[in-house]
Amino acid sequence: MNATREGGCQCGYIRYRLEGRPSGLSVCHCKDCQRQSGSAFGLSLAVAIDDFHLETGSLRSFNVLCDSGRTKQCAFCPECGTRIYHQTGSAMSIKAGTLDDTTALHPDAHYWTARKQSWFDIPEGSTCYVDDD
Ligand SMILES: [Zn+2]
Ligand SMILES: [Zn+2]
Repeated sequence: MNATREGGCQCGYIRYRLEGRPSGLSVCHCKDCQRQSGSAFGLSLAVAIDDFHLETGSLRSFNVLCDSGRTKQCAFCPECGTRIYHQTGSAMSIKAGTLDDTTALHPDAHYWTARKQSWFDIPEGSTCYVDDD
C-alpha cells in the first residue's frame, strides 16, 4: 500500500503529507499515551523520517525521557496543541488519528496491555506486549 496520505491538526494550521509505506501501526495503552491523547490509548504509525513532509505551518516540540531511558521528541501544533508526531532517535511515528483518512488503518500490535483501561477488549488474535520493550 504505497500511497500519498495527508493529514493535519485540529485547527488547520498544520498540514502534512506522508509518502511511502508506513512500517506498522501500534496501539499503546501506556499511561503517557492515555494522558497525551486524553483518551484510552495512543495510535502510532511508524514512518520513515524522509517520508514526512510538512506542507503548512511550523511545529513546536518538547522532549520527554522515556522509561527506556531514551529521549522522545514530541511535535505539536503551536496554535491548537494537536500532537502530530513523536521521534526517538531515527524512529518516527505519526499520531495516526491526525490523518485525513483513517479508514485503511488497522493495528499491527498492542503495547503496554498491562496498563490498558479495563473496559477495552483487545481483538482476538492481536499481537500483544504487556509492556514496551
Ligand atoms: Zn492546529
Ligand atoms: Zn504509550
